[in-house]
Amino acid sequence: AAKQHQLGVKVYDAALDMSSDESLSLLSELRTAVDRDQLRLYLQPKISLATGAVLGAEALVRWQHPQRGLVPPGKFIPFAEQTGFIRVLTGWMIERSAMVLRQMNAGAPALKISVNLSTRDLLDQDLPAKMQRLIDTLALNPGSMCLEITESAIMDDPQRALQTLERLHAMGFKLSIDDFGTGYSSLAYLKRLPVDELKIDQSFVFNMERDLDDAKIVRSTIDLAHNLGLNVVAEGIETAKAWKLLQALGCDEAQGYFVAKPMPEALFADWIRDWTA
Ligand code: C2E
Ligand code: CA
Ligand code: CA
Ligand code: CA
Repeated sequence: AAKQHQLGVKVYDAALDMSSDESLSLLSELRTAVDRDQLRLYLQPKISLATGAVLGAEALVRWQHPQRGLVPPGKFIPFAEQTGFIRVLTGWMIERSAMVLRQMNAGAPALKISVNLSTRDLLDQDLPAKMQRLIDTLALNPGSMCLEITESAIMDDPQRALQTLERLHAMGFKLSIDDFGTGYSSLAYLKRLPVDELKIDQSFVFNMERDLDDAKIVRSTIDLAHNLGLNVVAEGIETAKAWKLLQALGCDEAQGYFVAKPMPEALFADWIRDWTA
């Protein structure tokens, strides 16, 4: 189950590693997952490396399947993207995140939630209008929501992506480039995009302690982000050593198992209390 990627790099795709019968049934079940209330919002904390304060969380989807149990996104996001169901899924994630934000930020400090957008979402001409409806109906403060986009999603149709991103940014949403350093976007594009944040891909963070080249890439990305006036996040921090290294390099935000694994949304408020205590 390896599919050929743009530059001839083989990418492992778990969703393709199934019999066609199995994938067909998964596909039809996925269509009903929202109606049957089977999607779950998990939150993984994002922490300030300078102060240790909780800044917010990334929203990650899970599928609570009656027979298969908790299905990770890697197993069904590729299907959702192929079939267009991703727009329904993204809509659900954004709406739930907006509701969590409204609860969390009622009276309390302003936390942010980051939501992942796929290629299809970016090509959806109606996305800005949908987002506007959420601002109106859920009293969503767009400044408290960050939209994560990968370089490859942008490069699929750069003109259209740029248009959509400019509209979303003008509405007040924060924008982040996810998995930075693994895609094929040029710095010329980066300069034109209305982004606020770079997320260093976890592969560089994992290997940083052992591989000097990865450490240099991490350092350069932090410097690049800061020179462009962008916030920089490191994800995949699994050890105290990685945390300290990133802190020393001046990275702004940390996300990873060293702090916490993604957790059900209902546990997040208690987790913040324990972390802050
Ligand atoms: P991503 O956006 O790069 O999200 C980060 C992934 O890395 C998450 O996996 C998270 O659990 C994992 N992670 C975070 N810290 C660590 C760490 O310290 N060590 C290790 N080993 N892993 C860590 P998850 O939740 O399985 O999601 C995988 C991917 O599925 C995401 O990668 C994203 O591309 C996609 N995804 C998840 N939720 C959504 C969603 O709601 N919409 C869309 N379009 N994609 C989603
Ligand atoms: Ca992400
Ligand atoms: Ca990422
Ligand atoms: Ca990823």
